[in-house]
Amino acid sequence: MNSSKTIGIIGGGQLGQMMAISAIYMGHKVITLDPAADCPASRVSEVIVAPYDDVAALRELAERCDVLTYEFENVDAYGLDQVIKPGQLPQGTNLLRISQNRIFEKDFLANQAGVKVAPYKVIKSAKDLETLDLSKNYVLKTATGGYDGHGQVVVRSQENLQAARDLADQADCVLEEFVDFDLEISVIVSGNGHDVTVFPVQENIHRNNILSKTIVPARISEDLAAKAKQMAIKIAEQLHLSGTLCVEMFATADDILVNEIAPRPHNSGHYSIEACDFSQFDTHILGVLGETLPAIHLHAPAVMLNVLGQHVEKAQDFVHAHPSAHLHLYGKAEAKHNRKMGHVTVFSDKPEEVAEFGEGIDF
Ligand code: AMP
Repeated sequence: MNSSKTIGIIGGGQLGQMMAISAIYMGHKVITLDPAADCPASRVSEVIVAPYDDVAALRELAERCDVLTYEFENVDAYGLDQVIKPGQLPQGTNLLRISQNRIFEKDFLANQAGVKVAPYKVIKSAKDLETLDLSKNYVLKTATGGYDGHGQVVVRSQENLQAARDLADQADCVLEEFVDFDLEISVIVSGNGHDVTVFPVQENIHRNNILSKTIVPARISEDLAAKAKQMAIKIAEQLHLSGTLCVEMFATADDILVNEIAPRPHNSGHYSIEACDFSQFDTHILGVLGETLPAIHLHAPAVMLNVLGQHVEKAQDFVHAHPSAHLHLYGKAEAKHNRKMGHVTVFSDKPEEVAEFGEGIDF
């Protein structure tokens, strides 16, 4: 029996590239769909060069592949529904619709998965903000299209109220209570349609709304870590998850609240390539193929540092000085400011040493 499959990946950025690498060493062939012929995945796969919403290109991908997956959530779910054969997209388009719209996402998390989220309400226009209790702080987020802090306004007493009204008049929004969290954490979970496997809890440090550093395990109590993992498993089970999903959460002094989900491997899970016995990309590929999933073992405490356009030289110097660090560069031609060019993973037997890695080197 030939168990080699052709896997079609929508999106050929670094996530598509790292998925393809996992698929290739398991013996599969990969074709990606991306608007850029020289995208990161072009180094390891054939690329169909077309916009993501080009239905003819999606159809060609579907015809040439056994299984389809995506590397990001803003895929044209309706276009995909027109071209996929039954069972060809194990992650499904429903999960795309949930994660593309914060109103659907909050409703799913709070009411279907039954996990705790920050108190929220749906805002259809500025009028819905009139009765706001301004003794509390809030974050107003557009329902669709926001990313990395774009499409968001923090409302503290009267401050930014006009900006919030303007945003609410432009788009449907979700208004969340501001969470006074200790740490931002995330949990990667993978499923094969029946069973799930879960990764350790990750602690995420952002700079300018972009992930800067991930520390694993997160510096939270064992009880809170167990709770975070249980929440991720509950969400995955509710979705009958296939492939990898990242659950982003807030850890307060004594509780965990879910912020959002990303239905794909996530930047905060990159450490798993070297620090775990299976990476989030390996389990993604195994999961979408319906294979048995392994339990995940963390070899040692780890830190992942993102390398943005302005950090490339410093990262190279850092790796020179720390030869046991793993430098990944995604092969992007132009090192633009704030563009994710690569990452560095370091691990150590001493968790306190790991947390200090990268301090003071400005990346
Ligand atoms: P998001 O786009 O939902 O991931 O939000 C971007 C960032 O804004 C998060 O990583 C948090 O740092 C912050 N943030 C989002 N929602 C809240 C909230 N309800 N309370 C406090 N901070 C938040």
